[in-house]
Amino acid sequence: AKSWILLKHFDGFPKDSDFEVKVEELPEPRDGEVLLEAVFLSVDPYLRPFSRFRMKEGDAIIGSQVAKVIQSKNSAFPVGSHVVSSCGWTTHSISDGKDLTPVMADWPKDVSLSLALGAIGMPGLTALYGVEEVLDLKEGETLLVNAAAGAVGSVVGQIAKIKGCKVVGSAGSEAKVAFLKELGFDEAFNYKTVSSLEEALRKASPDGYDCFFENVGGHFSTAAIQQMKNFGRIAVCGSISLYNDTTPQTGPYQHLTMITKQLKMEGFMQSRWTHKHPESLKRLMAWFKQGKLQCREHVTKGFENMPAAFMGMLKGDNTGKAIVAV
Ligand code: NDP
Repeated sequence: AKSWILLKHFDGFPKDSDFEVKVEELPEPRDGEVLLEAVFLSVDPYLRPFSRFRMKEGDAIIGSQVAKVIQSKNSAFPVGSHVVSSCGWTTHSISDGKDLTPVMADWPKDVSLSLALGAIGMPGLTALYGVEEVLDLKEGETLLVNAAAGAVGSVVGQIAKIKGCKVVGSAGSEAKVAFLKELGFDEAFNYKTVSSLEEALRKASPDGYDCFFENVGGHFSTAAIQQMKNFGRIAVCGSISLYNDTTPQTGPYQHLTMITKQLKMEGFMQSRWTHKHPESLKRLMAWFKQGKLQCREHVTKGFENMPAAFMGMLKGDNTGKAIVAV
């Protein structure tokens, strides 16, 4: 098995020298175990903030993958079946099955299994729970989402359209803005080139926002909070603009606006609703089959390119879900 390990804890933006490949011989699977071979690996933003407290230097890098069972001594996972595993950045692994989720039983043959890491997997579930459980988005409301062309954001906007809402999205390039329009977003803008975020947000929805799905944090938050309607709701999903900061930012704390507008802000992790995953994945797949949910992917080829794919995603190279195909 080849595995990427964390050689040095990230200090600021990750560097090539923070990563190293380790090769090891795996034992034969024992009774109850399976041998897995990675097919698609996920590169996710959470690795950056979680690396400090979930990994030590020298540990294998955390992450999930779609893997094929290539040897099995566990009848729940026959040879040739596919699973989602959280075994990390590795080409082969042995599992007793406890950390494995079989890919949906009726996964259509013509749909890439990589979507199980994206719109019909963890990021899609995150979008769904943020919109339904946290924001409780209602028909006719206006929703704002940032990092909108990414894995989570692009699904958030499309679910909000399915629910009959007005959707405004921001992203970091003209091509991404065009992609958002293709997805049916009512308004989209490039946050890197607008002269004022406040003005761009006001122009996109002069009446303000009922709901804000927050992926970015920092200055964007400050601007967005000011544009909320009274009693607006904010789902805090991520704060990617802060993940590589070496000195923690103070603020932006718009407490006075939070108070005067009587806003509600709630942080969440998709894992709160694990019990709903099977049902939710079926709903996402149904929307996909009906053409209501488009799934864009940014595929990097080659296990050796995992760090490059991860760093590229943090820089915004990806439109849709960033994955690596082995
Ligand atoms: P994306 O596919 O959206 O990829 C990350 C994107 O973030 C980049 O493409 C880039 O797009 C954008 N970005 C990077 N730096 C900045 C910046 N400084 N300011 C604004 N945008 C930036 O990733 P995911 O969809 O997987 O994740 C999106 C967010 O959701 C992250 O914050 C992540 O941590 C969070 N998350 C939370 C979960 C939860 O359970 N709470 C679960 C999964 C994800 P651009 O070109 O537009 O800048």
